Amino acid sequence: MGQMGYVVKLKGRSIWDMQMENSDSWGWRQLLALRDKEKPHVAHVIGNGINTSVWFDNWSSIGYLDQMVTRRDRFQARMGDNLKVAHIILDNQWKWPDEWRLKYPALYSIDVPVLTNQDDAIVWVSNDGKRSKYNTDQVWNDLSENKPKVKWHRVIWFPQATPKHAFISCLAVQNRLVTQDKLQKWYPTLRLNSALCDQEVDSHEHLFFRCIFAAKVWNLLKRKLLFKGLSNNLYRIIDLLSAYPFSKNIWSVINRTVVAAMVYYIWQERNWRIFKGKKRSVQDLRGTIEQFVRVKLLTFKVKRSAAVIKAGELWDLTWDNMQFQWNGFGPGLYLYGFNNKVFPFAVKKGEVTKEYMLIRPDSNLDTNCNEVGIVLRM
Ligand SMILES: [Zn+2]
Repeated sequence: MGQMGYVVKLKGRSIWDMQMENSDSWGWRQLLALRDKEKPHVAHVIGNGINTSVWFDNWSSIGYLDQMVTRRDRFQARMGDNLKVAHIILDNQWKWPDEWRLKYPALYSIDVPVLTNQDDAIVWVSNDGKRSKYNTDQVWNDLSENKPKVKWHRVIWFPQATPKHAFISCLAVQNRLVTQDKLQKWYPTLRLNSALCDQEVDSHEHLFFRCIFAAKVWNLLKRKLLFKGLSNNLYRIIDLLSAYPFSKNIWSVINRTVVAAMVYYIWQERNWRIFKGKKRSVQDLRGTIEQFVRVKLLTFKVKRSAAVIKAGELWDLTWDNMQFQWNGFGPGLYLYGFNNKVFPFAVKKGEVTKEYMLIRPDSNLDTNCNEVGIVLRM
């Protein structure tokens, strides 16, 4: 069972996605895109009601409300697509339009959630209908229809794994992400070429990592792993790693973290280009992935060993007293948090000091820390 990320918040914005303007937790959107199969597995538990869509999230006892109220009625009542659960509750009562009382009595049968000051949470609904906090083993079991665990399972789902990376990797390995080649039969005029290189058709095999763009990023990352002659084909890489001992050994964790992050960020880049018109260079993406891995490494307690020292060397971290440390501390952007191990002092949200300025607090990370943010050292 994973030790972190039991609950994934839809708010979903994290330090590593800070360029993102409108966070949409698209890992979860991918999940929603595969409606028929996965949709029943995700449910929202209402806290403050601010991040849960009235129409398109599964929060009510009667399921998805967009299936019930016609779009026409919604718009006539000025209850558009962006309506959140918090907007339709006043003094513990529903604010549905009066004329809906007859037309949609089921709406009035829904218990009014008690709004709190907690964020809304997403929970996993298992095949037997039990709701649980997001738990990697459970997700795996339910999505794989209780098939015997195949060996790549442990390459992707492991205690230190990042749930959103594991989730996308899990879909990627099973050829279940929605790539353009799969959409062609529905949308024959669709532009099929890879958004990353514009040279070949967008498909799993292409993206992971035959695409010339992906291959460039991967070739740079390979230098920070210990394997010689590592393949550019995700399936072969997973095969190789599944033959590698699964242990707390630092390299066992680094290998799997890098591969999952690579899959996640390639898929993210592809989506940004298609849906947001945003583009990062090979170097930018390499930097994003490396930074992610470094931050991950900083959270591990490690014992001095040749493997640990080598990891520090290759990932540009020093090693001290059971923990990795940042190398150097010049002007630039830094993370703070992680039990104040990264930053040598505690920074409070909104704090501005002479030397440091807090750019963005962020408490929504896949780690165990509470107070995390980004600080600019001037
Ligand atoms: Zn490509």
